[in-house]
Amino acid sequence: MSGRAALAPGAPVIEARGVTKVFAEGPQLVPALRGIDLTVRAGEFLALVGPSGSGKTTLLNLIGALDRPTAGELTVLGRPIGTLSRAERATLRLHALGFVFQAYNLVPVLTALENVEFVLELQGAGGERRARALEVLRELELADLAQRRPAEMSGGQQQRVAVARAVAARPALVLADEPTANLDGENAEILMHLMRRLCAAHGMTFVFSTHDPRVVAHAQRVVTLLDGRVARDEARPPEPAHEIMPGAGRAPGGA
Ligand code: ADP
Ligand code: MG
Repeated sequence: MSGRAALAPGAPVIEARGVTKVFAEGPQLVPALRGIDLTVRAGEFLALVGPSGSGKTTLLNLIGALDRPTAGELTVLGRPIGTLSRAERATLRLHALGFVFQAYNLVPVLTALENVEFVLELQGAGGERRARALEVLRELELADLAQRRPAEMSGGQQQRVAVARAVAARPALVLADEPTANLDGENAEILMHLMRRLCAAHGMTFVFSTHDPRVVAHAQRVVTLLDGRVARDEARPPEPAHEIMPGAGRAPGGA
């Protein structure tokens, strides 16, 4: 299956050139993105910030092949998003991208394990998928939750399972639109550590939007959108490895 992690470090994952998106609201044209130029490389851990209405969700939806740009060039994992058919975009999403949503979006009737397994099943993984799902839960220290349904988990736990689901097939790129918006400060911290570890351990690229300065603090790169344009693009000094890797003094399975 194409599009898996383990791209060469520094290989371009997202290339946007003059990307615009205009929504039609009745007779009104709403320009949500007004010419985005952005290159994101393999292994980056990037926060997209900016006021409400600045275009963060619109940009994530384009990068996630959920929608197509009105104009400009957008290449994600080598695929030109603007010229892919609906079916080709669905294939790209299924096999190469991972999604984490603000509202967790686990399937309520399935256990944590089944939620992770379900995505692997859609991807056509064979008989090893249960083992693979368990392995991912173990890696993220969530094995204790394997048999629980979403209603039997806290919000923080559900979102950690949602991350496990998003990364189970080792997508090269994980997109998260305000993943901590419904979490308290402690659970937001645990979630960011989890994502950061996956980025460091597997070279997965993460692009997430947020309003929360404590979440932004984890980013290696912060891109600020204002009115549909990139207003700022700043690199952060790298965190020491012991801050990222296991044993950072937290118990992600808890609370
Ligand atoms: P953010 O996620 O930063 O809050 P959005 O990407 O949701 O910003 O929105 C950017 C702009 O595009 C806003 O003006 C918003 O009202 C508009 N917009 C977003 N989606 C749609 C849509 N489907 N139809 C019309 N306007 C939209
Ligand atoms: Mg948004």
